[in-house]
Amino acid sequence: MEQNNLTLGIPGFSYPDLYDSNRLKDLLDVFDASVKKHDADLFNRFVAYRLNQGKGLAPEAISDLLVCMGPYVGQFVATLFNVTKQHQAQAERIKDEFASIFAYKNEVVAKLNLAFKDVNVSTWDKAAINTRFNLLVAAAFPEADKDNDAEHRVARVGASIGLLSAHYKLLAKGKESDYVNADGAALELRNKLSVHQQATTEFKDIIALHDPAEFVQGLMEIVQRWSYVAQNNPAITEHWLSFKFPEKRDFDHLVEHDVVNKGEFTAWMGELKHRRRRDGFKLTDPRFNQREVLSEVDHCIYCHERDTDSCSKGMINKKTNLFKVDPLGVTTTGCPLDEKISEMHLVKRNGDNIGALAIIIIDNPMCPGTGHRICNDCMKGCIYQKTDPVNIPQIETNVLTDVLFMPYGFEIYSLLTRWNPLNVKRPYMLPYNGKNALVVGLGPAGYTMSHYLLNEGFGVAGIDALKLEPLPTYLTGDSTTLPQPVVDFKELYEQLDERILAGFGGVAEYGITVRWDKNFLKVIYLTLLRRQAFRAYG
Ligand code: SF4
Repeated sequence: MEQNNLTLGIPGFSYPDLYDSNRLKDLLDVFDASVKKHDADLFNRFVAYRLNQGKGLAPEAISDLLVCMGPYVGQFVATLFNVTKQHQAQAERIKDEFASIFAYKNEVVAKLNLAFKDVNVSTWDKAAINTRFNLLVAAAFPEADKDNDAEHRVARVGASIGLLSAHYKLLAKGKESDYVNADGAALELRNKLSVHQQATTEFKDIIALHDPAEFVQGLMEIVQRWSYVAQNNPAITEHWLSFKFPEKRDFDHLVEHDVVNKGEFTAWMGELKHRRRRDGFKLTDPRFNQREVLSEVDHCIYCHERDTDSCSKGMINKKTNLFKVDPLGVTTTGCPLDEKISEMHLVKRNGDNIGALAIIIIDNPMCPGTGHRICNDCMKGCIYQKTDPVNIPQIETNVLTDVLFMPYGFEIYSLLTRWNPLNVKRPYMLPYNGKNALVVGLGPAGYTMSHYLLNEGFGVAGIDALKLEPLPTYLTGDSTTLPQPVVDFKELYEQLDERILAGFGGVAEYGITVRWDKNFLKVIYLTLLRRQAFRAYG
């Protein structure tokens, strides 16, 4: 464990303060003052929300307050732990993915079938199309041309031209566009092509088009043709997220399978291409990568803006006012915790993982024990019932891991369980009230109950039938010493095949196999063990 003397980035506060209820109240006051300074109107609206606890506010208004306030929490917490640089770098990477990969997908790839309805690509001169596209990239987008990420290289070009084209199409329909200085951007492209020897010849007809809209349309055709060829190339469509679209959902055929003849009977077998041989007890499911997660965020349509976020609130039959039941007989209640999923997605889309995590933690403070591989009532309630739903658990777990693997990520998560300005019911933990509670069983229900009791000021003794392995005192602290701050979560992280069962987590520890990352249990266990008023016995 790396030794360190953590100096917090908010003057007047030190690490021990983060475990002291009175000082957490002071920290909330400093947070409030900083919001008031930047946006007095938002501050006043949020304070009113805190006072009225949402009574009289429309659901959309509450959602809007959380989405507006989330980034303030993100920035404040990043400053507190001196990780502003890393927090911003994450935001820039996420925003860049939306400005390139998903702008290309939405502006170009999604519209290809309109441009080339039923066109058979087999007669096209693919080599020539490829040459023209590559020349366009080299001449007009030399920076993108150096990109080692093949999908990102194409998407940077496709997004630029696709957005310009969309702008001119809007104008042609007499509509407004928020593209700033499109004519300037078109002129810059024209200039770049005009000074490139090969491009001047190859694209002379396009360069000769003086109307910027026609010029951009000429370039768009080069991009569209290349993209349409790519759309017919499985090597690209199977791997590039910009070519991934939700598929129709057939409730009678949810899982693709083969039927194998076993002699006297036939059996269903999962498709061989999905078979992953397990070797040992390492984690077998490393979860989605960042681009796959962002593809799900892009799939979401942020229904909280219309109070139709059924992933959180469930699907209600307007006639009976009861939850709808899907064709499999599942009652679509949405998230049992009413997690503010849609709001979290929007804040993640804007690049703020800490703000998004703070939104999750309002209703789901023990989120390391939920998400991918654990629960999916939210997906069953997603507004997309006829096509693939948004993979919310993957997004939720990704928001958590993006924070955990930042410097001081564990400390950030842990703090947000004790102090969260977005949680108007309990923005900071209460001091010990002298009353103690016994929690029997430290599985998901028991550890969650323990957390809530602790935040209300109770002492908690948690007992479990399994032997609980202690964690080192330098991590947990004791009655006289505070824990050592964890700088790098990797120092806590253990490979599943080397890890000793800690006994904590009930069914989540002994009932789940190597598909779920049990390091998340350690995050919860350590978060609770650091609470002065908590003891665990097993
Ligand atoms: S996850 Fe589905 S239901 Fe929830 S906000 Fe997104 S699209 Fe709507």
